[in-house]
Amino acid sequence: MLKHRELAVSGWQKIVHFEDDEAGLNAIIAVHDATLGPGCGGCRIFPYGDFDAGLEDVKRLSRGMTFKNALGGIPFGGGKAVIFADPKKDKTDDMIRAFGRAVDHMDGLYYTAEDSGVTERDIELIQTVTQYAAGIGKDGVGGNPSPFTAHGVWRGMQAAARHRFGAASLEGLRVSILGVGAVGMELARLVHEEGGKLVVADVYAPALDEAKSRFGAEIVAPEDAVAADVDIFSPCALGGSINEKTIDRLQAKVVAGAANNQLRTPDMDEALRARGVLYAPDYVINAAGVISVGLEITGQWSNDEMTRRIDKIGDTLGEIFQRAEQDGRPTGAVADELAQEVIARGRKAA
Ligand code: NAD
Repeated sequence: MLKHRELAVSGWQKIVHFEDDEAGLNAIIAVHDATLGPGCGGCRIFPYGDFDAGLEDVKRLSRGMTFKNALGGIPFGGGKAVIFADPKKDKTDDMIRAFGRAVDHMDGLYYTAEDSGVTERDIELIQTVTQYAAGIGKDGVGGNPSPFTAHGVWRGMQAAARHRFGAASLEGLRVSILGVGAVGMELARLVHEEGGKLVVADVYAPALDEAKSRFGAEIVAPEDAVAADVDIFSPCALGGSINEKTIDRLQAKVVAGAANNQLRTPDMDEALRARGVLYAPDYVINAAGVISVGLEITGQWSNDEMTRRIDKIGDTLGEIFQRAEQDGRPTGAVADELAQEVIARGRKAA
């Protein structure tokens, strides 16, 4: 039986802890801010060490989605879910269906989608018990968000190169990509086709072989990707790659990648600015995946609309870079401010 318990957390619209012992479900759904619409964001399945670790993660992630969806221009607030489990060992169909019932219990205040540990098949299963799930392609509409995310990052990288180097394209620029997975590999293709020179790093050897054979990429160890002699560093693996240890090794003058939470601590935002490094705020540049999910939910998804929205990511970043330069402030802080302006306008209009 699905049990639920609402947690009163200041600053969050609604956080609910769900448990279903028979189905092996232990999950939290958090909606941070629903000013612009229902919370929308993926579900992450991860073997958190304890309840508080999962709660902290879902709070951080749902808050991030509020900002991402606001600047992504979709009518959704910030939401996210976590399931306490190892997706490789513990995940069962019963667990996923029980999670679907938990989503349904939120009564439209939260829409779920994929995040790490969740597959398209899981979303299909969730859709058998609730209408509040999206992110799988049907009849050429929507689908796997990774290629869209890669295209958005590529547009964002072009905008950063234009602003920082006055470059009309990525041709001749050297780009180091840390993590050539679903997003990183597609991004590598786009950079290569535009005439960029690639340096790649990954922990998965077959991905490195592929990047080398398809794009002539130079290969470096993961810990050296940040220090590669390149113009642009693109973190596309895990979060936290810009931190107090790596920042002084950074050679690139632009940081533009797909990973979430690229800055391990908030002070890295100003530290990058002070070093003359242009940082494309992660939640702005990597938003195309959730934009696709949002358009799928609202029924506005089309190839043309997606292309327009992806191009818009470059424009939004251009605006952020401009304002940051004018005001002598770091780009991450300016992005937060712009997102808050969008939400404030939404509040007024409501
Ligand atoms: P993925 O799992 O397909 O790819 C990640 C790649 O990074 C893999 O090839 C993996 O081997 C490699 N990797 C993992 N740990 C590493 C390490 N320590 N050093 C070097 N390489 C390492 O994931 P993805 O879907 O390509 O997403 C990449 C990043 O972008 C993630 O941080 C994800 O949260 C973020 N993101 C993805 C999307 C999307 O649409 N897929 C949207 C927004 C943000």
